[in-house]
Amino acid sequence: MKHDCIMIGFNDEKMDTIIKRVEPYKDKSAAYEHMLARSAVVNGKRMKYSEIVRESITNSTGMQSDLTIYRMPNMAVHYCMHYLKKHGMSVGYVNYFNDGREKLKYLIENYSPNCIGVSSTCHVEPAPIREIVDYIHSIDPSIVIVVGGPFINSINFEYSTPQQNYLLQSIGADIFIHERQGEDTLYQICTELRKDKPDLSKIPNIIYKDGHYKRTVKVPENICLDDDPIKEFTFYENHPKPPVYMRCSISCSLCCSFCRYPILGGEPMFMKIESIEKNMNYIHSLGVKSIVFVDDSLNVPLDRFKDMLRMMIRNKYNFKWYSFFRISHSDEETYELMAKSGCGGVILGVESGNDTIRKNMDKRVSTEQLVWGIGQLNKYGIVSHASCMVGFPGETEKTARDTIKFIEEAKPTFYDLQVWFFENAVPISKERDYYNLEGYGYSWSHKDMDYETAGKIVLDGIRNIKNSYFMPSLSFNLWSLAYFLTQGTQISEFMELSKIFKDVVGYKDHEIDDRYKENVNRMLNVFRGNQELAKNLKMRNK
Ligand code: SF4
Repeated sequence: MKHDCIMIGFNDEKMDTIIKRVEPYKDKSAAYEHMLARSAVVNGKRMKYSEIVRESITNSTGMQSDLTIYRMPNMAVHYCMHYLKKHGMSVGYVNYFNDGREKLKYLIENYSPNCIGVSSTCHVEPAPIREIVDYIHSIDPSIVIVVGGPFINSINFEYSTPQQNYLLQSIGADIFIHERQGEDTLYQICTELRKDKPDLSKIPNIIYKDGHYKRTVKVPENICLDDDPIKEFTFYENHPKPPVYMRCSISCSLCCSFCRYPILGGEPMFMKIESIEKNMNYIHSLGVKSIVFVDDSLNVPLDRFKDMLRMMIRNKYNFKWYSFFRISHSDEETYELMAKSGCGGVILGVESGNDTIRKNMDKRVSTEQLVWGIGQLNKYGIVSHASCMVGFPGETEKTARDTIKFIEEAKPTFYDLQVWFFENAVPISKERDYYNLEGYGYSWSHKDMDYETAGKIVLDGIRNIKNSYFMPSLSFNLWSLAYFLTQGTQISEFMELSKIFKDVVGYKDHEIDDRYKENVNRMLNVFRGNQELAKNLKMRNK
């Protein structure tokens, strides 16, 4: 049998690889310091939080841990697979590239696919996608590789055509999809590749190489979200059911001035509550206990959100669920409904603890509202992860200290603090002149601050904040926590890990001393004595 397409999920790079890539630019950008501020040296290797979790579980239980968030059914892979199969295509998949190389080789050699679809979801650089492309080419250099997803959309949004071409060339695929959904474009590619002489020029929303890169016409797919539920989820054998991702809307109706999502996402689209119910009924019937909503603003509009929560309560699913959450769109009843419907945790886009800076960001929520909202979450035992940044235009050392003070006083359960990343095509870049804004990415300056000062404040904040736990969203966020909680770990173990992590984060190799090694040793024993976790690993370590 021949496959029309094989879909491939995420390629998780090790911190060692990332840091080697950014080190040559350490005097020109905050990227290197940024990576240092979310990693630690463990047994001679620089590791990110997720790698430390793996190392710690392995060391604590005496069994090799294979637990990773990428064992959740990859959303892009499953959406595309669902759509293609529904339209009569034969599809194979590899949910997670890192542990699926052998399977991928087998599928290529035995199903001679017409193309391979690679999702760029969660990737922010070409290198890890290039690694997938090179691996495929090492098996069959003639295979057509299609890459789509948010990173490709960002490249097309953010850069000039020559820069885009350079980045696409670095990825090395044959066809790129730039559409906020993309499933139908992939279907059209698969249909065309069935022909003896495929003609890609008629397929909308793609960039393909024909001597040089050619761009076809943009036609929004607008695939209705009230489609049949996805029926086929990848669950690994002998592995407790992980959470399942759900998407109940597309795009965001807010307009933060540092954010490209509403521009890339276009007009918001919503799934009807009846369709959400249909999806949840199916997910529940599979024995899934947790859901991660990927919607940018699940609680906007608020009435719809409350209707969804009431539906979940009425159905007595008892899911633990996790999502992004906008405190600006909440009232007392919201938190009560969230708790009753099983909310386990939310990611909060706090961004700054200073009202003026948040106004510059067009965040439309006051410090007072944020403190109140986090208080409500704490009252109902809902875990919060507050995402904060330092260095946005207008930021001074004083306003940055307000953010650190805010975290200390509002006490979200976890927080992330990072240097602002400047993107060219977001609304704030129109105010370059006003703020004397120069540079790009992690290499910027404006009239009140530059990336180096921001980097120092971030590291200082991480090392000194005491009332909230640092969880760097680079490799481990609330979704990861949701996954690990289904695998037998406890929140208290992650709190303990984070507490020690902040004391080892950001150090360079020559700064490592006995106290540092002692802290690393403590980190590597955080999960010791956890019987539930050991039982889980034992199922696959026989
Ligand atoms: S709420 Fe989030 S997704 Fe929406 S515009 Fe603001 S930062 Fe972007």
